[in-house]
Amino acid sequence: MEHNTFHKALEIQRELCIGCSHCIKVCPTEALRVSGGKAMLYADWCIDCGRCFRICPSRAIRVVDDDFENIFSYKYRVLLVPAVFYAQFGKRIPRRVINDILGDMGFSEVCTVEQCADTLVDEINDYVRKAEEKPVVSSFCPAVIRLIQVRFPSLIDRIMLLLPPIEVTAQYYVRKWKMSGGDPSELGVFYLTPCIAKIAAVKSPVGGYESPISGVINMDYVYNKVLLAYKNKKYPEEGCGTEAVNDAVSSKGLLWPLTGGEASQVEGRALSIDGMSNVIEFLEKLEDEEIEEPIDYLELRGCDESCPGGILVQGNRFLVADNLRNMAAEAPDTHRLSEEYKQFCSAYIKMDAVEPRSMVKYDKDINVAIKKMEMAGMLRKILPDIDCGACGAPSCEALAADIVREDASLNNCIFMQARFEKEGSLQVSEAIDLMEQVWGKDRFVNKEQTNNE
Ligand code: SF4
Ligand code: SF4
Repeated sequence: MEHNTFHKALEIQRELCIGCSHCIKVCPTEALRVSGGKAMLYADWCIDCGRCFRICPSRAIRVVDDDFENIFSYKYRVLLVPAVFYAQFGKRIPRRVINDILGDMGFSEVCTVEQCADTLVDEINDYVRKAEEKPVVSSFCPAVIRLIQVRFPSLIDRIMLLLPPIEVTAQYYVRKWKMSGGDPSELGVFYLTPCIAKIAAVKSPVGGYESPISGVINMDYVYNKVLLAYKNKKYPEEGCGTEAVNDAVSSKGLLWPLTGGEASQVEGRALSIDGMSNVIEFLEKLEDEEIEEPIDYLELRGCDESCPGGILVQGNRFLVADNLRNMAAEAPDTHRLSEEYKQFCSAYIKMDAVEPRSMVKYDKDINVAIKKMEMAGMLRKILPDIDCGACGAPSCEALAADIVREDASLNNCIFMQARFEKEGSLQVSEAIDLMEQVWGKDRFVNKEQTNNE
């Protein structure tokens, strides 16, 4: 069963928001507005891409992750670590030492997420070979999956119905624990995330799936802890051999988080596209049937440089990407657990169809909804179509939709205000009241006068 609401992995701290409107301009799903001089989020439209977080000049947007101390609610604690985490440290701290520090922080076992990549590549190739409709779109990046759900519902059937690596690896550990006779309530599986989209994906997954992951931990928090621990304690370079640590990953796995990491391993013609604007541009063309050349597989990643560009990654994304390539050059071609993964995961790797989510829900009654959509279309023709944002909405199209949903009025548009004032149907004082409602009273204080007082 699909979750009814998206889990929100970010939160606007109103007390820190200065109402600058930078965030509303970059949101790919127009999920933000300015109201009362503060940013406001339509939670169901947000795809957790993190663009607003990145651009906010006053750090008013906060990541909502799990409290680290939650790990101690479990007797046996597994940490799933994406390869980008290690790559941030380059050669400064050896991987074995990082694992030892993570062990000291409280984890019983540390494993690299991409250890399932060998198995996944075979499954993907099999899936693509059998797919009737192509290109098949990778299910790896949760921000892209949500983007398709809310903005490109007509392409929803292209999404590959195979679980992404974090879920495959989590399943492997949960099943291994059960098979060894472990009490399920004593096992906690935690994921160290490089981006907020993966927090939301674990909390409210798509495809009729419930994640066995017990909690998601912010990568920049643990990065700083590891740096501090390394500075303060002498760890032997070869590591202390923390029990049960499994850090062996194949070169395929280490390349996976990079742009081209999947596409280069998929048979047939596969494209890799990174960066939200590039992804949107391509999906628009695909939706409009402007892509005439045959493509078998699309690896689409929301962040520039893919996972090294995640908002919770501390290292420079280009250096992190280069470090991953260097790590891959030294890694074995095949992971030593790949056979075991095959037996374990083939049966658990599939997910159900992903449901679309309408960005603009006008009404439950389809006939009423169609009428309202037509009304929004008419309003768009009246509005100036310059997307100035002075109304607090990111575009004239968004304002038209807000008006139809009765969240705004035509008077919110400053061009319409000027017209109504000229026609005598709106007083100047009413227009100012409206603008104060959007931008807050403080914006209308004469700053020069205040400074001189
Ligand atoms: S995370 Fe992305 S989709 Fe969500 S509000 Fe911010 S910019 Fe918009
Ligand atoms: S970017 Fe958005 S959340 Fe940040 S201060 Fe400006 S309006 Fe507020």
